Amino acid sequence: MPASESVPTPLKQALDLLDCFVDEGDPCSFDHHGGCQTHGFLSLKPGELCPHREALDLLRKVRGA
Ligand SMILES: [Zn+2]
Repeated sequence: MPASESVPTPLKQALDLLDCFVDEGDPCSFDHHGGCQTHGFLSLKPGELCPHREALDLLRKVRGA
């Protein structure tokens, strides 16, 4: 299969989709149990990162930004 920049790989598509679901301007808001109220991840333990935050960090990392 020829490599082509114009054909998105499934991984690139997944990252682009992820980009649609996470919003830089929508910060986490943790309650006193450690859950993120903003994004609905209420079962997080204190000190755990919200998956939303992790997704943003991951996108930044893979895009070298
Ligand atoms: Zn969050």
